[in-house]
Amino acid sequence: MTALEELPLRAELRGKAPYGAPQLDVPVRLNTNENPYPPSAALVADLAASVSAAASSLNRYPDREALALRGDLAAYLSRSGGVQLSAEQVWAANGSNEVLQQILQAFGGPGRTALGFEPTYSMHSLIAEGTSTSYVVARREVESGFRIDPAAAVEAVAEHAPDVVFLCSPNNPTGTALDPDVVEEVYAATAGMVVVDEAYAEFSHAPSLLRLLPGRPRLIVTRTMSKAFAFAGGRLGYLAADPAVVDALRLVRLPYHLSVVSQEAARAALRHADDTLASVDLVKAQRDRIVTELRARGYDVVDSDANFVLFGRFAEQARVWRALLERGVLVREVGLSGWLRVTAGTEDETSAFLDALDAARDEAG
Ligand code: PMP
Repeated sequence: MTALEELPLRAELRGKAPYGAPQLDVPVRLNTNENPYPPSAALVADLAASVSAAASSLNRYPDREALALRGDLAAYLSRSGGVQLSAEQVWAANGSNEVLQQILQAFGGPGRTALGFEPTYSMHSLIAEGTSTSYVVARREVESGFRIDPAAAVEAVAEHAPDVVFLCSPNNPTGTALDPDVVEEVYAATAGMVVVDEAYAEFSHAPSLLRLLPGRPRLIVTRTMSKAFAFAGGRLGYLAADPAVVDALRLVRLPYHLSVVSQEAARAALRHADDTLASVDLVKAQRDRIVTELRARGYDVVDSDANFVLFGRFAEQARVWRALLERGVLVREVGLSGWLRVTAGTEDETSAFLDALDAARDEAG
């Protein structure tokens, strides 16, 4: 057996732990913000037929530019995002994590800095680390509902002069939507790239920030099919930006990074978008139910525009996490002392979560 320390690993990776939400086989999994509704039978049949048809040409590389898929994604954003977009303004990869990595490969890297507003999505800092990009932090405070104040954001930009600014709306793990002023003011204050991570946009009460793209060539809005599209297993993330940004990402992407199977499967999923996205309203109703029910029980609950809710505060959130797990309910410890995050599931899953939480509280006395 070789220990990791024995390998000539890069110094900055020594002693680090990989990203890892526990993947446990329990009845109620509410820890990774997936859509609880499986794909429809019609989608499964369409996807199987499309992949089957494509299988006869798997000896050939896929379309390196994924143009048909990018066209379909542009059409979806154009009809839902309040701005007209074409395939040249859209880029896709294996999950939005890969999109974010490509952004830092192109615009971050050694000697460059990315700024994030924490608590936020933990992969932003991990991808910075993996691409040797310095990562600096400005804080979101619980007292202000984890919102970002435009003036404070501009100050953080002035202080750190970042090459890339990460903004996340709705923000994971707090569920907080971003005030458009923050994007406008940060964009005006920086010479770097501004990345708005909209992984959870479809669940928000607020409109998408895609409408801020025209006239802002350094602005990037990233999206994913993992959440609202119920396609986490399909691994398809994408972005909208100026075509020049897409040209930049082409310099760092691996050739043929999106397989024929991925492209065909995603296109099939997009053909059934209206059907799949109908589940978003069901999830939002459970999200709002969780907020109401937890507040009625006296918990601190952060307003949520996403498909999850941050709640607390606990003297020892790890104990509550374990008590829920013992009752078959998996939620997320997000590294925020006193808080836990729960994903909105089906009505039954939400009931199971609330019941388990009540039982855990009764037991703790
Ligand atoms: N951005 C945010 C804010 C997320 O929460 C996630 C998934 N947890 C992602 C990006 C990445 O999603 P994926 O790689 O599945 O597209």
